[in-house]
Amino acid sequence: MPSKEISTGCCIVGGGPAGMVLGYLLARAGVEVVVLEKHADFLRDFRGDTIHPSTLEVMSELGILDEFLKRPHQEAREIGVQIGDAKIIIADFTHLKTRCKFIAFMPQWEFLNFIAERAKHYSSFQLIMQTEVTDLITDGERVVGVRANTPQGMLEVRSELVVGADGRHSTVREKAGFETVDLGAPMDVLWMRLSRRLEDGGQTLGRVDTGRILIMIDREEYWQCAYVIRKGSADEIRRIGLPAFREELVRLAPFLSERVNELVSWDDVKLLTVAADRLGQWCRPGLLCIGDAAHAMSPVGGVGINLAIQDAVASANVLVEALLRGTVTIEELSKVQARREWPTRMTQRVQGFVQNRVIERVLGGNAQPSVPLVVRLLDRWRYLRRFPAIVVGLGFRPEHVKTPEAGKEMT
Ligand SMILES: Cc1cc2nc3c(=O)[nH]c(=O)nc-3n(C[C@H](O)[C@H](O)[C@H](O)COP(=O)(O)OP(=O)(O)OC[C@H]3O[C@@H](n4cnc5c(N)ncnc54)[C@H](O)[C@@H]3O)c2cc1C
Repeated sequence: MPSKEISTGCCIVGGGPAGMVLGYLLARAGVEVVVLEKHADFLRDFRGDTIHPSTLEVMSELGILDEFLKRPHQEAREIGVQIGDAKIIIADFTHLKTRCKFIAFMPQWEFLNFIAERAKHYSSFQLIMQTEVTDLITDGERVVGVRANTPQGMLEVRSELVVGADGRHSTVREKAGFETVDLGAPMDVLWMRLSRRLEDGGQTLGRVDTGRILIMIDREEYWQCAYVIRKGSADEIRRIGLPAFREELVRLAPFLSERVNELVSWDDVKLLTVAADRLGQWCRPGLLCIGDAAHAMSPVGGVGINLAIQDAVASANVLVEALLRGTVTIEELSKVQARREWPTRMTQRVQGFVQNRVIERVLGGNAQPSVPLVVRLLDRWRYLRRFPAIVVGLGFRPEHVKTPEAGKEMT
């Protein structure tokens, strides 16, 4: 027996970028919405930090961009890579026809807290933390709600629509019995912080050398470092020992030589496993999956957050009217998949190309990696840097907000 039951228009499982943005958009349009998030806060540092020009455009359309940009962030107008000794700019965002011609690097908890604060202005929005969905409630074929564990006992939420936005290990997709196409990923990531000094300046973002790749994200007081390793090789690296690992880092980024000692034990180095897949079917009556729950994204290009947010915007555009009416048909849910499947496939195709042609070769190689032809062309002709900027900064089908602001503001 549940300790509590709630009834709502839309129940969103997962308070990540997809779930929070969808929750905000629905509440803003006047739909009753409940977002369930299993963690007690948004304070996890492994979710990625990138807010892309197309997402910033969405914020501008919502009238919240200026306020958002007051939050701590860094603005990257170009993205570069260092291959051996060669430093090369591979994407130039300054030519995009968007209001913001940069990627904003912002810790994801800042972004999610900001969206939560905006959403809470609407009386139809409810965010319930520390609530882990464990099962779907069905009536025949139709999903009519979810069961969740909370510190106060079991909660049942009944709703016209359940949206699975619970990420790449989605419980919703598993309980719905959706089939997954596994696309494979040749790498995992070791994730760690090293302090940043003023004299470090703007370093290139990616460093590639014999058998190694290091990505460094500037978080002002510290570098968030992602060391890319062959899939499943974390135990081998741990066995060789922390001193050898520190030396590897210094070989890639000599300016870190003293700071690598901040990695005192393996507890300071987290393993993040990378997955890439997508569902054949994103919906069934009463249920839709979006974001990583529908298509787990590799970190290549740092585009998964943007794609998840674009899914949320498209879902709101397609479904608000039906949710306000109180009945959502399978045809309407299928429209979301029809709109978002192509950009997902295209993005995953590009990621697969980079994974197989660049990352796998670098990680498996013993020789100094040569600069690929395409990167040499980007180095020679600045004009060409606009194209990677479009793919990374805007994505394949950028969405625009078409839903009205009709929700009641809290008094
Ligand atoms: C190592 C790594 C680095 C990455 N770096 C970047 C990057 O820099 N930029 C980028 O754009 N993308 C990056 N990505 C991809 C990005 O993290 C995802 O594509 C993106 O977070 C998807 O957003 P989402 O909202 O769909 O899912 P998530 O961000 O995974 O959010 C899902 C939410 O659901 C909650 N949840 C899960 N299960 C339940 C449950 N049963 N009940 C209730 N709540 C639940 C989770 O706690 C979480 O808050 C990276 C991925 C990896 C693996």
